[in-house]
Amino acid sequence: HGMEVLHPDLCKLLIIDNEPVLQYYDETIDDLHAVIPRIGASHTYFGVSLVRHLEALGVFSVVSAEAIQLSRDKWSSFQTLIKHGVAVPKTVLFSNLVAESVVAEFNEQPVVIKLLEGTHGQGVTLTEKPNHTIATLEMLQAANQTCIVQEFIEESKGKDLRVIVVDGEVVASMKRQSKAGDFRSNLHRGGSSTTIALHAEEEAIAIKAAKALKLGVCGVDLLQSNRGPLVLEVNSTPGLEGIETSTGVDISGKIISYIERNKK
Ligand code: ADP
Ligand code: MG
Repeated sequence: HGMEVLHPDLCKLLIIDNEPVLQYYDETIDDLHAVIPRIGASHTYFGVSLVRHLEALGVFSVVSAEAIQLSRDKWSSFQTLIKHGVAVPKTVLFSNLVAESVVAEFNEQPVVIKLLEGTHGQGVTLTEKPNHTIATLEMLQAANQTCIVQEFIEESKGKDLRVIVVDGEVVASMKRQSKAGDFRSNLHRGGSSTTIALHAEEEAIAIKAAKALKLGVCGVDLLQSNRGPLVLEVNSTPGLEGIETSTGVDISGKIISYIERNKK
């Protein structure tokens, strides 16, 4: 296959005579068969729009524009996941007028506060005491940031599972461990990874989550809680380099085979 990397910043989306047109620099692009979107968190609106434009041009996308958009919003993703019976941690979205009652909802236990569209562990914090939780919520309100509050799954001890699902099958998985003193296992935050074999229940919930969010390719993050695996989030643009190196699985090759089975 011939591959081309198109940087979203250099793409121009047009609607001319009621038809979608895509330009890269000033050249019209009309010869693509398929696309593997790699949309950075700071480019969600434009990136999703670009993928939607490509879909309108008849290009097969391994993750649809709508699915990328949904997966970027942690709260909306949870609403969809529970509709499909996928277990997630207890989570609250609320107006700041009721911040104190949110703390009561968690029996004054430690909670995790998250920005709706945070990524790489940067929009996530753990507050252990109710007055710290309330102060953090007030600070976020002052900064006009919408957030969710979630039960802290302490027993996961800074570990989570990253599971890559391609076309409804688990192709690779790893366990990530946070660096000492942190609860966030993101590799971008200094976490480390080891390969693991998943339990049947973990494999099943990862596949179910990918299906619920209609993602042909994704990274499903699971927490191992006392009541079984819980889905923490589903990434539509999972990093591949680290997990391909640690597991030795050619995930990119599996994505290309998925395209070969689906492109018109
Ligand atoms: P991001 O999108 O920034 O990666 P996540 O929701 O995945 O945000 O949280 C980052 C990390 O923080 C997770 O990988 C996990 O290690 C830890 N974490 C997040 N939520 C919880 C929770 N409710 N209980 C325990 N650990 C959590
Ligand atoms: Mg994450």
